[in-house]
Amino acid sequence: MLQSGDLFRYTAPENAPVALLEQEFAALLGARYALAVSSCSAALFLSLKALGLKPGARILIPAFTFAAVPSAIVHADCVPVLCEVGENYRIDLAHFRHLMDDGVEAVMISHMRGHTSDMDAILAEAEAGGIPVIEDAAHSLGTTWNGRNIGTLGRIGCFSFQSYKLVNAGEGGIMISDDADAIARAVIMSGAYEHNWKKHGMNADLEAAFARWQNQLPLYNLRLGNLSAAVIRPQLAEVARRVRDGRRNHDHTAARLNVSPWIEVPEKLAPEERAPDSIQFNLVGMNDAEVAAFQEAANQRGVKVQVFGASRDNARAFWNWQFLRDIPDLPQTRAMLMKACDVRLPARLTLAECDLIAQALVRAAQDVMGNLRAFGT
Ligand SMILES: *Cc1c(COP(=O)(O)O)cnc(C)c1O
Repeated sequence: MLQSGDLFRYTAPENAPVALLEQEFAALLGARYALAVSSCSAALFLSLKALGLKPGARILIPAFTFAAVPSAIVHADCVPVLCEVGENYRIDLAHFRHLMDDGVEAVMISHMRGHTSDMDAILAEAEAGGIPVIEDAAHSLGTTWNGRNIGTLGRIGCFSFQSYKLVNAGEGGIMISDDADAIARAVIMSGAYEHNWKKHGMNADLEAAFARWQNQLPLYNLRLGNLSAAVIRPQLAEVARRVRDGRRNHDHTAARLNVSPWIEVPEKLAPEERAPDSIQFNLVGMNDAEVAAFQEAANQRGVKVQVFGASRDNARAFWNWQFLRDIPDLPQTRAMLMKACDVRLPARLTLAECDLIAQALVRAAQDVMGNLRAFGT
């Protein structure tokens, strides 16, 4: 590729690495169509545009997500509506229903850190209201809900290939959908100018959709390059193993952390099978100073802990999204973020390494809170 200089996805007449990646990813997830783009954020932005959401449309998102999500909504001239999240990092359904009754035009569900909210309830509510669901599955590749792949439950699913995700190309994203019109619109807006859309695995549905949208849409040029696709494609064969090892590491570490009276790893919901590459847990019975001391003690013991709400600039704390016009008061999500910890737990770690991490965290909690209730450790 470097010798030929053929790095642009639309130079080759067919079978460019990006086009092959799209076919392979759609087949892996069980979706009809895929469109690879420059990032998951670009995929989220294009999803809103592809579904024809107009400026000012209210888009429901969980208040526990990454700043790129409300940013994609702002970029599409829409308005993020933040929903409360519970101590288990998942959408609070009572608040969700309240916001749905208040009028929203789309739901963008962030499966934050791979934690899946109650998708049965969310999809039922959205369907009843005739509202499309976009899944931000950036960090959920390999997760299933009732045996179905996350990212295939809503109208469009978006994934990331940024370095902290399960498949790492430095940067990159992909959207999947069964909706020919949505994909045709996204393909054109992603930068398939002139007749480059013909290089997107045509069928009768797509051809009709492209005929409807040719020349009708602006070009945002959010394409993926062949070099990134060449880095991504061989990793797709590794996904199943990474998911298995990541789940093993997570569940092993969670069991050891839960022995501590000061640490609680929330349970997943029953229909979910996770694909974790990190672990999140709540500190129990600690005030803000003790939380900070725990973070420092863990650091001393060699494990870096991020507390989502405990820094001035964490991009996952909604009160830091000051680019939003109105930041609502969401006491439940705020309380969770002030004691929810994040530790990386890559699939490549051995169980012995996971034991060392769990031991360091349990002992860090003891350093701060004492041994009194720490039986069994
Ligand atoms: C990483 C991430 C994103 C953004 O992905 P990019 O590819 O970096 O744009 C969005 N949402 C969630 C939940 C993420 O984890």
